[in-house]
Amino acid sequence: MIMNIFKKIINTIISFIYPQKCLICSKIITVKTHICEKCLNSIKLNLKVNKLEYDTNKFVPCISMFKYAGKVREFIHHFKFRGNKEISNYLVYKISDENIKNITKYDFDYITCVPLSKQRNRLRGYNQSECFARDLGKKIKIPYKDFLIKVLDNPPQHELPAAERIMNVQGVYSVLKISELKDKNILLCDDIMTTGNTLKECVRVLKKYGAKNVVCCTIAYV
Ligand SMILES: [Zn+2]
Repeated sequence: MIMNIFKKIINTIISFIYPQKCLICSKIITVKTHICEKCLNSIKLNLKVNKLEYDTNKFVPCISMFKYAGKVREFIHHFKFRGNKEISNYLVYKISDENIKNITKYDFDYITCVPLSKQRNRLRGYNQSECFARDLGKKIKIPYKDFLIKVLDNPPQHELPAAERIMNVQGVYSVLKISELKDKNILLCDDIMTTGNTLKECVRVLKKYGAKNVVCCTIAYV
């Protein structure tokens, strides 16, 4: 009892000296959360399904949750470049039950993600697409598994002109755990879909090594 009161006093003093701030707008927040209500309410789900042609006349659906603009762009920027990996949880939280049905109708065995190179993962400390895939997996109750590995460290797609992006991803990815991939339905996650070239290459590799069906899912689309 006395210890609990003592802990409460210490926590109050700590939160007074180091107040919790919203990861997006830096406003001080009192409740135990990372993002203020105003910021969380300012992003709206805007689901879109694109068709990605990963091979000649072969397509897979790509479900994207938000349009990459305005406040969503800020969320993703903080998530990707400011070390705030908790943001993924808040983005996943916004996905409604109706949207969940749109994803789970495909009956997936595993959820996985587009990998980063070892060097980039070390620099950032985490793979944002993996955080999203794991959080989404928890919400829709699909187990997460690593299947793809990046074997070449290519320049980031967003730094290249569109014409060079197809070539830039070829031969960059390979597969782990081939026996576990065979005949499985895979949900492949990434952060942003721009041209879709990275996702197409990953789908091609997953299919080549035995995946039965692959559907892509990204936080946002450009
Ligand atoms: Zn805020």
